[in-house]
Amino acid sequence: MNRIDHIGIAVKSLENSIPAYEKLLHTVCYKIETVESEGVRTAFFKVGETKIELLEATRPDSPIAKFIEKKGEGIHHIAFDVNDVQLTLNELKTRGFELIHEKPKDGADGKMIAFIHPKSTPGLLAEVCQNK
Ligand code: ZN
Repeated sequence: MNRIDHIGIAVKSLENSIPAYEKLLHTVCYKIETVESEGVRTAFFKVGETKIELLEATRPDSPIAKFIEKKGEGIHHIAFDVNDVQLTLNELKTRGFELIHEKPKDGADGKMIAFIHPKSTPGLLAEVCQNK
């Protein structure tokens, strides 16, 4: 794990949340992107080397909709930058971690991503990502 790439925060509405985060971070949202395979619309902010990713559900069966239903708005995952997602997944599996994705998939912001199951972390939904 090289560094924390971003922190993902589940929100009910990007429209309502973006102005609040722009005010909090004193920077403008630089990208809004939908990842249809995950059922999310994302908004990104830069905070130094790290980013904040707001996540809004695009449909009722989206993992973000389910998360908000159970826990409310708030921190959803922490994403770690790695050199090679597949290699990292293989290593984590060898070390006994349960994976949500066995293979890297297309994520937002030009990344290949995969999630580690919070059962094995424990309690943290961890993402590993690399630039495409
Ligand atoms: Zn993420």
